[in-house]
Amino acid sequence: MDKKLIIGNWKMNPTGLSDAKKIFSKVAAGAGKIRGVETVICPPAVYLGLLSAAKWVKLGAQDAFYEVDGAYTGSISPAMVKSVGAEYMIVGHSERRAQGETDEIVNKKIKATLKEGLKIILCVGEKMHDEAGEYLKELKNQLEQDLAGIPKKYFNQIVVAHEPVWAIGAAAKGADTPESFQHNRLFIKKVLAGIAGKKLGLEIPILYGGSVGAKNAKDFLVEGQADGLLVGRASLVPEDFAKIITIANEVKS
Ligand code: PEP
Repeated sequence: MDKKLIIGNWKMNPTGLSDAKKIFSKVAAGAGKIRGVETVICPPAVYLGLLSAAKWVKLGAQDAFYEVDGAYTGSISPAMVKSVGAEYMIVGHSERRAQGETDEIVNKKIKATLKEGLKIILCVGEKMHDEAGEYLKELKNQLEQDLAGIPKKYFNQIVVAHEPVWAIGAAAKGADTPESFQHNRLFIKKVLAGIAGKKLGLEIPILYGGSVGAKNAKDFLVEGQADGLLVGRASLVPEDFAKIITIANEVKS
């Protein structure tokens, strides 16, 4: 991947369209000067069609159901988010897994989304860290189940984000370390090579996510060798997010 991928996950924020437009236009203004980064904003789905993606800021959905259409009240499909401008979709975020989303459901969502031609940001992450490395089994299981039966031709549409659950959100004790991410990244690559074959598996970009801000972004990109970052809270503060994009651009050049 020649550009770093910086993804903002707005989660269920902000509470009104006018604030969403303000944040988005500030991010777009900052990102407009940057050429070495692929910037993606994943707002709540209701805002997707109302924020205009530009060449330098792409749009992504945070989730969608796996059926194309039909009697599924309250759901939206990958085809729908694509029709309003999304190019990416987050699948398997830990906040959705915590609401009961199983690996089987994640797998169905991935298959449906890839068929629509969208790119997948597959989130995997362990609930707890242990020094003995038992948590790696949890990562391997998630990857193997989530990516089971995916035809090889789709692997170039997949990005994996390692998001340790214990490092995500305001209640987290803080980010993982870049050294630990680098170790996990190599492990994930090995598992992906086992699933997709060496050539395709090793090409899948691996991002880090979990309490990333302007202060630690460079460490994960340089020391951790992350192909990009998945940013939650800091993506809602345009000045902070702009700094992260600028850092990623400098790292690249
Ligand atoms: C996330 O929601 O994917 C995330 C990484 O959140 P935060 O950056 O707020 O920890």
